[in-house]
Amino acid sequence: QKLAKYKHLAGGVAFLDAIPRNAAGKIMHHVFGESEKWADKSSATCGISGRSYTYGMMKAMIDRFGKALLSHLKLVPGDRIGIILPNMPEFVTIVHGAMQAGLVVTFINPLYTPDEVRRQFAECNVKSIATIDMFMPVAMEVSKHLKDYKGTICVDGSNDPVKGIHGFQSLMSAEHKADLPKIDPNDVCLIPFSSGTTGLPKGVLLTHNNLVANVKQLCRPEFMKHKGNKGTGSVTLTIPPYFHIYGFNSVLNYILTIGSHIISMPKFTPEIYLQTLIKYRPVDLFVVPSLLVFLTNHPAVKKEHLERIESVTVGGAPATNSILEKFVQKAGKTKDEIALLQGYGMTESSPVVFVTPYSYPHEKVGTIGQIVPSTEVKLVSITTDEAVGPNESGEIYVRGPQVMKGYLNNEEATKETVDSEGWLHTGDVAYYDNEHYFYIVDRTKELIKVKGNQVSPTEIENVILQHPEVADVAVIGIPDERSGEVPRAYVVLKPGQTITAKKIYDTVAEKLIKYKSLEGGVEFIDAIPRNVAGKIMRRELKALIK
Ligand code: AMP
Repeated sequence: QKLAKYKHLAGGVAFLDAIPRNAAGKIMHHVFGESEKWADKSSATCGISGRSYTYGMMKAMIDRFGKALLSHLKLVPGDRIGIILPNMPEFVTIVHGAMQAGLVVTFINPLYTPDEVRRQFAECNVKSIATIDMFMPVAMEVSKHLKDYKGTICVDGSNDPVKGIHGFQSLMSAEHKADLPKIDPNDVCLIPFSSGTTGLPKGVLLTHNNLVANVKQLCRPEFMKHKGNKGTGSVTLTIPPYFHIYGFNSVLNYILTIGSHIISMPKFTPEIYLQTLIKYRPVDLFVVPSLLVFLTNHPAVKKEHLERIESVTVGGAPATNSILEKFVQKAGKTKDEIALLQGYGMTESSPVVFVTPYSYPHEKVGTIGQIVPSTEVKLVSITTDEAVGPNESGEIYVRGPQVMKGYLNNEEATKETVDSEGWLHTGDVAYYDNEHYFYIVDRTKELIKVKGNQVSPTEIENVILQHPEVADVAVIGIPDERSGEVPRAYVVLKPGQTITAKKIYDTVAEKLIKYKSLEGGVEFIDAIPRNVAGKIMRRELKALIK
């Protein structure tokens, strides 16, 4: 009646008790799906303390923690939990335990100021926070502003019922009776924050399916050294933060899915990193560009530290060709002996869209690789709005199963970013060559990337505008050898008013995390260039630098 004749059920109708569905729809099932085969091998180890869990232990802990959240903290599926944790093995237990209990996780840089944490957690309506002792004051302060708050979990501390603190160890030492809920793979399970192409950081709604799809897209044999061999337990030392989508999905979830042994470091100092390199002798490194600069330029890093390395994956932001070349030299290897892998992604696409195959031609210097499977990409000319062919540049549009469901409570931004045909507009400009290798050439969006971290100019501008002396302000990123980019503010003062550049710098440093500081300086100008709609013309400001 409703559909054309050729769609009629000519094959008949059969009644079953249940429809067989692929269990891999749930991220935890996907990541630990085959882990029983390597249950005795190490899954995650803290590079500093040596605390370590096998795959079997980790899976049992995740199960127990998920049940504790439901039965002990009385959280219910759909509730949101905020994570303030550095990279540590328990990050896996907590995030996957929560997701498996049907909760939605939002994570954050632990060094954020209380203002920054509160904004994100309040927007997500967080009901519980998991953290460590060191960040407890921030968690306690922020929790005062959260509605229907159900309690804080302290990973390295003990119970304090008066303050509503649940010690992780005591949660883990008891059996909890609770039924883990059935999860719809299309349910949102993660809300990382990203400013996208414009404005303030927004909650990015990612589903189980988004995360699973992206890990599967990376697990293709052509992207993997072991050609699909899993459970080898090979050691991977990771620096990218797990509280960013790259560190969480493309590093942590990916490494655990393939059964390698992940070494994490809760904090970075050159000495600790070098000690960890020596102690664990990793074969694969995951880095951000600034770490590659450190490994290459720091006199304390010697050839012998890098002896065992077979692959280095750089993510989060571009690494320059000269650094890649110098790194290979420093390691005393040839380009055939060490795979230098790059990729491109964004939070809104869970994150990976392009990645270099494990062996790719050396002459493709600076490429971000090829499109991951099951993903469509088109490049749309900035001037004509038409899709372009090879060797012409255009904005990257992406469509695929890894593209987010939308932004949290922000339909307008969602519509501006994902169009009616499902294309995610990335705000990045690229071209591709005749072998379909892609190269980034520009960024049209406002976003500033400092050492791989997102900085929203609007967020800094809002802080500066709190000074009554300031009439107008615009923040842009300026190129920087060490950090990739650093923020610079252009400030217009109200008539007759004065304020020093130092005062403005200090206010930003006080209100926002360190990497958002105005390391690019503060410049006073007569007027901010704006278009007729009042939008800041950041390109004109960038031209000033040139
Ligand atoms: P995030 O959402 O924090 O992952 O930031 C995503 C943005 O980082 C992208 O839209 C790009 O502007 C930038 N980015 C990520 N990877 C690369 C890369 N390999 N080369 C250039 N820019 C990159």
